[in-house]
Amino acid sequence: MANPPVEQIFIDKSLLNSRIYKNIVNNSSGSITEIDDYKSFIREIQNDIHQRFDKKTLLLYPEKGQFLHACPGSDGVVCCRYFVLDFGMNCPYDCQYCYLQTYSKIPILTIAGNIEELLIQLKNKILEFPDIHWRIGTGEYTDSLALDNLTGIGQILVEFFSLLPNATLELKTKSVEINSLLNLTHNGNTVISWSLNPDYIVNEVELHCSSLDQRFSAAKKVIESGYQVAFHFDPVFYYEQWEPDYKALVDRLFAEIPHNKIRWISLGTFRYSPGLKEKLRLRHPDEFITKSEMILASDNKFRYIAPKRAKMYKYLSGLILKHHPEMMLYLCMETQTTWKRVFSQNMAGPNHLDQAFEKRRLFLKNNF
Ligand code: SF4
Repeated sequence: MANPPVEQIFIDKSLLNSRIYKNIVNNSSGSITEIDDYKSFIREIQNDIHQRFDKKTLLLYPEKGQFLHACPGSDGVVCCRYFVLDFGMNCPYDCQYCYLQTYSKIPILTIAGNIEELLIQLKNKILEFPDIHWRIGTGEYTDSLALDNLTGIGQILVEFFSLLPNATLELKTKSVEINSLLNLTHNGNTVISWSLNPDYIVNEVELHCSSLDQRFSAAKKVIESGYQVAFHFDPVFYYEQWEPDYKALVDRLFAEIPHNKIRWISLGTFRYSPGLKEKLRLRHPDEFITKSEMILASDNKFRYIAPKRAKMYKYLSGLILKHHPEMMLYLCMETQTTWKRVFSQNMAGPNHLDQAFEKRRLFLKNNF
């Protein structure tokens, strides 16, 4: 599926010499308007009571703060020492479960255009701690590649990380915008990852995203270009056919993708913040994802009850490990108790999990 088109682009005048601005001018067929002050522009949109969420309008603005953050995780869950590189907010897709519906305060797409500053910050931080292997991902507040046909940020980051032996970049996406990455020198320092869900969920819930067929096909193409890939079974949904559907998906994954090209796989059951259900029902009165029995957990997110989550994780991890017992498999944003229920052993915390990622990286590097 082609990305929904961005029709209007507003660019802060301070960015007219930036690389991203030039890429957008070359790649966009939408209207481009220069603005004097992005802050006033945002204020105007926020104060306009008629403004609805608009995924066809993009603002290119200069980010003044820090681009790199430790993943915020969630209260009481096991973290994995992941870092998040924020270069944008919101995304042209429309997943019903997207937490940005309640988190984002800006009702349009935004991209930080001062990528030159982002690269300086990143390099300084990574070189400050040369003895750790950084895992850094870009898909926290936007899809990593959904707007890449306009911005070209993917290429800039892949080439930048190719020179950093102690860092791995993860580009996490539900898009198939990979063509600009295929012939780059990446030195194995970039992992491209896709969220996976059964066709039923992709079609009913992940609106406007690429199909499952397209995601597998894109993954195979980047593997041919020497990249490793990763997959996120996140969010996993509980519905009548969930067991056969997820089994078919896991079987398909290992039938189509060589296990020695998969760097890691994550599992995370569906969770959502208060307010999402109400927003979702206004637009999709027939949605089914929040109709399961869920409770407000200690991190203020609605989750399936703990025994049900453990059952789902056990089922999925059993399927995955049966195909490949050495796979680096982890639970995203889960409690110690759930880890113990699923894997019958304690996950001692971030160090433990970080070491497991590093072991997998070295294993693939030294053996394949
Ligand atoms: S792809 Fe990610 S950021 Fe975009 S709508 Fe879906 S969940 Fe939200």
